[in-house]
Amino acid sequence: MAGKGDLLYAWTTDDELRAKAETGGAVTALLRHALESGMVDGVFAVRKGADVYDAVPALITDPAEIGGIAGSLHCGTLLLPKQMRRCLLATEPNMRIATVLKGCDVKAIYEMAKRGQVNLDNIIIGLNCGGTIRPETARTIVRERLGLDPDDVVKEEIDKGKFIVETKDGQHKGISIDELEEGAEDLLGNEGLGRRSNCRRCKIKIPRQADLACGNWGVIGERAGKATFVEVCSEKGANLLNSAVAAGAVATEPANPKGIEIRGKVENAMLKLGDKWRERYFGALGEGTERLNKIKEQTSRCIKCYSCIENCPICYCIDCSTRRDYLVEPGVIPPPFMFHLIRFAHISDSCVNCGQCEELCPVEISNSVFLHAIQTELEKLFGFHPGEDMTPPVLALVDERAERDRLAATGSDQIFDIFR
Ligand code: FAD
Ligand code: SF4
Ligand code: SF4
Ligand code: SF4
Repeated sequence: MAGKGDLLYAWTTDDELRAKAETGGAVTALLRHALESGMVDGVFAVRKGADVYDAVPALITDPAEIGGIAGSLHCGTLLLPKQMRRCLLATEPNMRIATVLKGCDVKAIYEMAKRGQVNLDNIIIGLNCGGTIRPETARTIVRERLGLDPDDVVKEEIDKGKFIVETKDGQHKGISIDELEEGAEDLLGNEGLGRRSNCRRCKIKIPRQADLACGNWGVIGERAGKATFVEVCSEKGANLLNSAVAAGAVATEPANPKGIEIRGKVENAMLKLGDKWRERYFGALGEGTERLNKIKEQTSRCIKCYSCIENCPICYCIDCSTRRDYLVEPGVIPPPFMFHLIRFAHISDSCVNCGQCEELCPVEISNSVFLHAIQTELEKLFGFHPGEDMTPPVLALVDERAERDRLAATGSDQIFDIFR
């Protein structure tokens, strides 16, 4: 019987599923078992959309359809908990879900849970993550660096630090991620090719806040490429795994000690790389007035589309302060700097560096760099680590519902009556 803290190799006992899966297929087999055994009503994950660069959210309620979500999509940059809230939980709040999340997704779900947007009773299968590549960046790499037609690619993977593609006529070509990223000159404008800026700065490689943390690092010997490395992170995760093993859906064995050592070394190397990129990005932003001016200069391109607000896991207010005309003058493009200051004030203690505000900004403003830089400063000041556990954020000074009731009773929406 597996217990919290165990490190295992696991694989599906279904050969058809294993052929579709990324490594051992343990993740998909566990999801199918959770559905079949009635532990959950649905599985919320991602599946391939129009092509290998396209990841779309998927809700699976029929176990027979589970094979459609197997495999890793390294251009799958979407933030799943926000989509889950938007597509599903807004209408089906009591649905019991099993979901598959990368590190930034896991951090986001914790911060969303603190804000009453989701609940953590759901089963969370975490994926180790070395990074994701924006779909349009991946297409550029394939065209310009690999000399292939991006539309001919039928499979992509990131393996041992290389981005590798396979075309429909069987060609395999790859290029090192370091080589792609070393062209990064001006980090606040041209950052070269490779992973998203937030992924370079990311330091959550093995998401231990999940119920199970799954990946391929550390699978060596005859199991290499054929098993999933599973770290059991909670009792809930242990129960799911034990139940799947008892039902014959998944097989396991203790992880190879040498493999455990290798996994630890790779994780540490990735964390150091994250530190290096943080230094470079935050250094490029400068400090004090220089930093403020750089932020003001970039945000002067803003077209006030609200994408950064709508896609941030930390933003959840129904009445967004940026829409108050006494704070942000309406009908003005670019909006007054106050528009961005409100966002910074509301989010910065809890930013989980998911990158959505940057990736989805139509005018390419380095939003996540700004917020992540401020967040790391606040983390040093207050010791608050967003997305790691259920500790309330620094700014959680009021209970919002009670505060809204109080404000409604006074006929004002202002805490301080400064506009009298
Ligand atoms: P499968 O049974 O194939 O199931 C895969 C699951 O992943 C499916 O549920 C699918 O919906 C989900 N999924 C696919 N793409 C995404 C995505 N973009 N975002 C969220 N969910 C997704 N492991 C490491 O040890 N080191 C790494 O550096 C590493 N980097 C990764 C980067 C990305 C972007 C992804 C998605 C995974 C990464 N993994 C990494 C995990 C590894 O690729 C396998 O997912 C893991 O070993 C589980 O294998 P499996 O055969 O059990 O999964
Ligand atoms: Fe993976 Fe981290 Fe990038 Fe999220 S921010 S996709 S966890 S590398
Ligand atoms: Fe993600 Fe940007 Fe929100 Fe930070 S501010 S949590 S990077 S969307
Ligand atoms: Fe402005 Fe970009 Fe945010 Fe849109 S996503 S409101 S353009 S900063």
